[in-house]
Amino acid sequence: MDEKELTNVNEYKCPNCGAPLEFDPESGQMRCAACGSAFSVSEVSMSARGVHEQQGFDWSGYKNETSHETMNTAVYTCQSCGATIEADGTTAATKCPYCDNVIVMNERVQGGVRPNAVIPFKYKPKDLPGLVKKFYQGKKLLPNNFFKDTYLSEVQGLYVPFWLFDCGVEGGVNLEGERVFSYREGDYDVTEVHHYMLERDGSMHFSHIPVDASSKMSNDLMDSVEPFDFSELVDFEEGYLSGFLADRFDSEPDAELPRASARLMKSAEETLKETCMGYTSVHIRNNGMQITDSSVKYVLLPVYLLNCNYKGEKYQYAVNGQTGKVVGKLPVDKGKSARWFWGACAVGTAVCYVLLNLFF
Ligand SMILES: [Zn+2]
Ligand SMILES: [Zn+2]
Repeated sequence: MDEKELTNVNEYKCPNCGAPLEFDPESGQMRCAACGSAFSVSEVSMSARGVHEQQGFDWSGYKNETSHETMNTAVYTCQSCGATIEADGTTAATKCPYCDNVIVMNERVQGGVRPNAVIPFKYKPKDLPGLVKKFYQGKKLLPNNFFKDTYLSEVQGLYVPFWLFDCGVEGGVNLEGERVFSYREGDYDVTEVHHYMLERDGSMHFSHIPVDASSKMSNDLMDSVEPFDFSELVDFEEGYLSGFLADRFDSEPDAELPRASARLMKSAEETLKETCMGYTSVHIRNNGMQITDSSVKYVLLPVYLLNCNYKGEKYQYAVNGQTGKVVGKLPVDKGKSARWFWGACAVGTAVCYVLLNLFF
């Protein structure tokens, strides 16, 4: 067996009673559910890692490293119950499936792969039933008991790794503007279209463009769970992960930069288009803008992932753990949709019948 043993793991325990000490979204502190003791996140994290301060992720430093840790499955021994547990290559924090002990794998959040910042969870699992109900309220065709409260309150929050790019763009675009005039001339309706070649130059700076850094996550789902409020980013501390799941990145900034630049180019084009006023329509003919400089932060963002199997199909939902926004595609109950259709038809027939009676 060539599985690596993770030894540098931290179990966060209440110093007063030994029960798990977890990050509590409500108070923003580390809290013991058993005895109610509370501690500050930085105090607990610092004493757990035994180091005063650590640098976060550094893009150029990371590129210069000769070898990167391979992300293979590893095993660790739960220090509370002694079970040997397998952790997949990107797991950075989890709970022991046997004793519910909270575990943070230090080597996956320290050194060169330490996150720069984190948005801590604001919503707890107990908030999920309410959030999800609001999401599907009024959607007639939803299967009965689609999300069960018992399932929802057991869902664990996941810190998803994201790259947060800051980029400058500079250069110009060529645009074509149209002005349309319509008027009447004798017997004719005349439409005149005037074409204008326009040029706009500019330099802009974009900050906090998020791109998920996990190949396991669906890009569409992660894009739609945005926006996050990045003014609430705080320095990363290990303690925030306690009681949650966390993944480390497995796709690198160089590979994800094109996704970020595509997003910001679109916004840059829109911004320049908006400066062309007085035209019926404007479109871009040629974009000569370039990214001038880019920097990246490695951050962990709070998300709840909900999985649902319905009639052999898998549905995945995400809840933004900071804002409570719920995203995902709801299945349509085919039985219900048929009943609904027939219901509508029956009403239609009745109306026709009444009308016929009136006319004849
Ligand atoms: Zn305690
Ligand atoms: Zn255990």
